[in-house]
Amino acid sequence: MRILVTGCAGFIGFHLTARLLQAGHDVLGVDNLSTGQQRSVADLRAHARFRFREHDITNPLPVEARFDQIYNLACPASPADFQTRRLEILATCSAGVKNMLELARRCDARLVHASTSEVYGDPQVHPQTEDYRGSVNPIGPRSCYDEGKRFAEALITAYRTQYGLETRLARVFNTYGPRMRPDDGRCLPNFINQALRGEPLTVYGDGKQTRSFCYVTDLVDGLVRLASCDVVEPVNLGNPSEIAINDLAHEVIRLTGSDSSVSHTPAPPDDPQVRCPDITRARRELDWKPLVERSEGLLRTIEWFKSNS
Ligand code: UDP
Repeated sequence: MRILVTGCAGFIGFHLTARLLQAGHDVLGVDNLSTGQQRSVADLRAHARFRFREHDITNPLPVEARFDQIYNLACPASPADFQTRRLEILATCSAGVKNMLELARRCDARLVHASTSEVYGDPQVHPQTEDYRGSVNPIGPRSCYDEGKRFAEALITAYRTQYGLETRLARVFNTYGPRMRPDDGRCLPNFINQALRGEPLTVYGDGKQTRSFCYVTDLVDGLVRLASCDVVEPVNLGNPSEIAINDLAHEVIRLTGSDSSVSHTPAPPDDPQVRCPDITRARRELDWKPLVERSEGLLRTIEWFKSNS
């Protein structure tokens, strides 16, 4: 197939693109490199069937080529970006998604969109099922991303129902693995780097808030399965193994063999207190579940940070 991947220089975008190339597809990768990594593009260029276009999807993509599938992953996604790139995120989730939908219409391509667990906000229902409508502060510090992604889901649904466009919606939960940006501000890159340097691990707040971490190859497998299934409703993709951030910090200390301590700094406003996917729909419709245990995934990620930071 001929496939377009936006955000190919990002963490998940790189792994997805590599997987599609391995499967024998031709891939055009697009990224504006605002948060994506040049090095990932350079590594993807080793594949003969990969082409790269530096481009911001908030502008229409000037290509004649036709695509069978479009994976839309372009968007800054770290909470640190939510403070510094608010307008960029809102534009990417609105004009950017609209441009990709128009391109999909023109090519008669199927659009697979990376939505997010952030559509559930600070959830009052736990674990989160796809039916849960969320608890989002529309003017809070995370609103550009949360509301942007919610708007994108509405826009994609409108194109599907109004034009009959083939669309798929993945709600991606916390994902980790090699090639996370070391300085993206997320807890795992921070904790691993701090542990490797022997510095205190900075836990925000009391550390009782929870997350559920999915290894990136599992997540990519879910995206690829979603692209070829019949489900048009959103599908949660994440690992339902939930852990408190405090416990995660201690797990990283143990797995790195570090003698770092844990320090606490004030919690950021609107930090979701719990997050865990209900993956019943993905299990049933995609026959998908995560396979990589957290300890195994963390060891692989730590090894990568050791050799690449
Ligand atoms: N966090 C932390 N220390 C850090 C970075 C993040 O304690 O150095 C916390 C953050 O407040 C949140 C959780 O870890 O409760 C996950 O944060 P992350 O930025 O990785 O992703 P999020 O799930 O918030 O998008």
